[in-house]
Amino acid sequence: MKSIFQGVLKHIDRLDGAKLREQYRRATEELAFFETLMKTMKEGVVVYDGKGDVVYRNEAAEALGDIALPLGTASRSELRVTYPEERILEARTVPMERGGTLAYIRDITAEKARTREELESGATKSVCDLAAGVAHEIGNPLNAISLNLQLLEREHEGDELIAACRQQVARLDGIIRRFLQALRPARPNLAPGSLAEPLERCVAALRAQLEDRHISIAVDKLTAIPPVAIDQNQFEQVYFNLIKNALEAMKDGGTIHIVLSSDDNDAIVEISDCGEGMDESQLAHLFEPYRTTKENGTGLGLMVTLRIVRNHGGSISARSKRGEGTTFTIRLPRIERRIRALK
Ligand code: ADP
Ligand code: MG
Repeated sequence: MKSIFQGVLKHIDRLDGAKLREQYRRATEELAFFETLMKTMKEGVVVYDGKGDVVYRNEAAEALGDIALPLGTASRSELRVTYPEERILEARTVPMERGGTLAYIRDITAEKARTREELESGATKSVCDLAAGVAHEIGNPLNAISLNLQLLEREHEGDELIAACRQQVARLDGIIRRFLQALRPARPNLAPGSLAEPLERCVAALRAQLEDRHISIAVDKLTAIPPVAIDQNQFEQVYFNLIKNALEAMKDGGTIHIVLSSDDNDAIVEISDCGEGMDESQLAHLFEPYRTTKENGTGLGLMVTLRIVRNHGGSISARSKRGEGTTFTIRLPRIERRIRALK
């Protein structure tokens, strides 16, 4: 829609007093219309300037309070806010041509509850149970095949056919494991710990793969790392999923930067790669199951990651630019905050 302001601006030198007043009145009306529109919207709209300061916030956004969002890039995040009540929000940011960032925030608590209910209800649940049962049953003979192949491999060292079979069996095993995990996410076993420990273990486990692809990992600890309630095993999985995606996106090698920090509320970890990045439409569907751009991808890694982070009461967001790279940010509430919130 072409704004009246643009029309007036074009002819402003030729307008006399009366015309100017008339245009001014119409412009004010138009502005009032937009203000009403913004006011009645259920969705939050926030405009940031280039320095990251808020220059406009509609009422819905006002009610949501301060939310840390990635500025200056396109991003999509799902956040869990715990105050004043627990809600799940979806936030999208878009950089504006004239500088600054436009953020659009939507409450998706009900939507999420509905999907969970649907997943947990009647027919869907029995289909999921059946699928999980079948997947589980496939696991047993698969294990046996894998063991037998190992024995064969020992007898026929260097046999390429056996090696190829083993590789495919390992792949199948991975697919089934992830499938089961996606269907039945375990409750996290929370204990006080830090975001750094599972990261170290994950990096150690990936060392060979990283070297193979000429990728190094640089870890920065900006602040003392505050304790969080964390399931170390599940977080190792989170790091594994994110670092694996990062290295798969970095076809020419390079460095993955990981920054650990904290603010008053959260312990924060940021994982940045300089890989192929994503465009806005990819970002819009990130975290949805079975969305993959990889020939052998499952499209389940990020969904599992999101679930784990959420079950920890945390949030995860991504920002990305095609051709430049991607950053994932995870926030977990600091333990001291949690206790304070419970009181
Ligand atoms: P998969 O890795 O099996 O494809 P994921 O859920 O881990 O499944 O990721 C889904 C999709 O998101 C990927 O196929 C890829 O297109 C995109 N993606 C995830 N992480 C990155 C990243 N670091 N850089 C670029 N694209 C990514
Ligand atoms: Mg993946």
